[in-house]
Amino acid sequence: MSSQKRILVTGAGGFIGHHLVKRLKKEGHWVRGVDIKCPEYEASAGDQFEVLDLRKAEACLLATRGGIDEVYNLAADMGGIGYITSNHADISRNNILINAQMLEAARQNGVKRFLFSSSACVYAQGKQKNPEVTPLREEDAFPADPEPGYGWEKLFAEELCRYYYKDFGFETRIVRFHNVYGPLGTYDGGKEKAPAAISRKVALSEDGGDIEVWGDGEQTRSFMYIDDCVEGLIRIMASDCRDALNLGTDELVTINGLVDIISKIADKRLVKRHNLTGPQGVRGRNSDNSMLRRVLGWEPKILLEQGLTITYKWIESEVQRSPKYAAQMNRVLTPAR
Ligand code: NAD
Repeated sequence: MSSQKRILVTGAGGFIGHHLVKRLKKEGHWVRGVDIKCPEYEASAGDQFEVLDLRKAEACLLATRGGIDEVYNLAADMGGIGYITSNHADISRNNILINAQMLEAARQNGVKRFLFSSSACVYAQGKQKNPEVTPLREEDAFPADPEPGYGWEKLFAEELCRYYYKDFGFETRIVRFHNVYGPLGTYDGGKEKAPAAISRKVALSEDGGDIEVWGDGEQTRSFMYIDDCVEGLIRIMASDCRDALNLGTDELVTINGLVDIISKIADKRLVKRHNLTGPQGVRGRNSDNSMLRRVLGWEPKILLEQGLTITYKWIESEVQRSPKYAAQMNRVLTPAR
């Protein structure tokens, strides 16, 4: 490690933030985690963990106090496609408040660098109508036509970061995540993403049974394993690039393909039951990593099957232990006569 920094991670009670805190501690930094809730599955590795509602200006000032060098601003109201398509007002209001207040508090408290976690949902919907989508380059966010709600507020917060650099010389970094998955991520309750939701459904299914898939399953995405995500975050923070950067893999897969990979890992044969009324988001989305490679000389490299094997095993063990699924698991383990 070069030198110890004082680092704030917001959203440290969530999936990516929790993993990032662990990694930053391993590298020897002093880390404060902040979230509106504690981590769900294990205690935070941070030196401090504070429960604060970052929609409030005074909470943001408290979070950024005490000579913080870097802020990774990961706190957000977000979830999978079902959640973000049915909560436009809440998501937009909550996240605009968090991002605007966090930027200003960090600037006032003399933070040196601020990283904003944006999303591939900022990309123009018109460029994602085809499953064989051309990978999205950073400039494809304009002319603006992002995902309603979540995409618009992310795109606006990106702009706000640019204004803070232009008007105040405040150093900002912008990361556009494509879907991230891995252990210790939400796998039920409505906020989970496709890899976790499918892993849970597969874990709860009997061999030879069926599994519900939203849409016709031919919609495509790329998925990045959490370790690559954390590595990319740290590299982007350290880089000189103030422009938004994709952070994702370019290994394209259909949702049906995702179900097949996870079923194979679980060694189960399952029949897909397509729910054509289920939300599915854009038809196709992939990451063009040319700019990421140019800036960092690096890109995510963990293969989908490799990352999904670790993720599936974790979710399977969670549902097997959870009292919530006991009845269902018993049915699976002891098929009715
Ligand atoms: P997550 O939901 O697990 O973590 C976000 C955390 O923010 C949660 O723990 C939540 O409690 C916290 N939070 C929400 N409102 C808050 C508030 N008012 N005050 C304090 N904390 C609050 O999500 P994640 O997957 O870890 O995502 C982290 C960031 O990355 C988010 O900004 C998200 O929009 C972005 N992102 C994630 C993905 C992905 O695939 N996981 C994709 C694109 C963008």
